[in-house]
Amino acid sequence: MKTKISIKFRAENIPGEADAILIPTACGPDVAEVLAGSIMNIRNVSVYIDLDESDERVPKVFALLQQHGVEVDTYTYIEYSNEDRQNARLLLMRPDNFKDSLGPALLYGTKYDMSEACANCGTGARQASVLYVDGDKLSRIRKHRAIGSFDGVIIVDGGMVKKLKDAGVTGISFGDVRARLRNDKWTSVARDQILIEHTMPPMRGELTAKDEEYLCKVCRRGGRMNFPKQPYREEDLVGMQDFNLTWEWFGEFWPENKEKGFGEKRPSPYVLVTPKVMNIFREARVKTFEWTPVTIER
Ligand SMILES: [Zn+2]
Repeated sequence: MKTKISIKFRAENIPGEADAILIPTACGPDVAEVLAGSIMNIRNVSVYIDLDESDERVPKVFALLQQHGVEVDTYTYIEYSNEDRQNARLLLMRPDNFKDSLGPALLYGTKYDMSEACANCGTGARQASVLYVDGDKLSRIRKHRAIGSFDGVIIVDGGMVKKLKDAGVTGISFGDVRARLRNDKWTSVARDQILIEHTMPPMRGELTAKDEEYLCKVCRRGGRMNFPKQPYREEDLVGMQDFNLTWEWFGEFWPENKEKGFGEKRPSPYVLVTPKVMNIFREARVKTFEWTPVTIER
């Protein structure tokens, strides 16, 4: 596990542009990317540098940029190794990117039982029909053995179902998948939805200011924004399965707005899995998910 720093700046006004920073600080193409071009005769040079936070080049880059009076955008992030992932008790399983993901299931006619759900944000809605996915995404679905959505839906092909069953993966069953077509008809999709049974206990730790701002004021369970750094202790893992859902439902929510033409948006739980699950997906060459270790407080 490494803390990385990402440094972004514009170089068109620096004499010598990007090279004036990158050459004296020895930032080569392995750590720096330069995007240069002109739009309407206006030169634009964007530079992106990614370094270990402790790399001795970091203070040199900052000093040089300050010398040139350049505005800098920075953020830090954690880069995990394969060993970190294999040693994790739980991994957050999310789509790797938008272009290899599905849209929200709610929009295509999947039915939900709302009897125990929050009336304000919809947290606690229980899927009560087969899964309907976007018919316009059929070619994307067929391209991948497994694909998911940012609202916790995961669908897999028959071979993946067999692998998961043969490995004795716990906490799941499988459900049919249909694609919603434009004329409101539907067609079967040769994929199964992974239905996850177990919900983790509530996470520990303080809510951030952003959490408080977006949190549902009625249930205080939906509308969470941040994934805490150490959400669980060892005793919270009692009863966990290979697939689990968080008790918290993440993301913004809003009602349907027919005038403006957008559908209802609900928060959704995150999916937490064991390294065993990650390894089954990876061995099947599935690349549509990212796997982020969840830190357990000791
Ligand atoms: Zn709520």
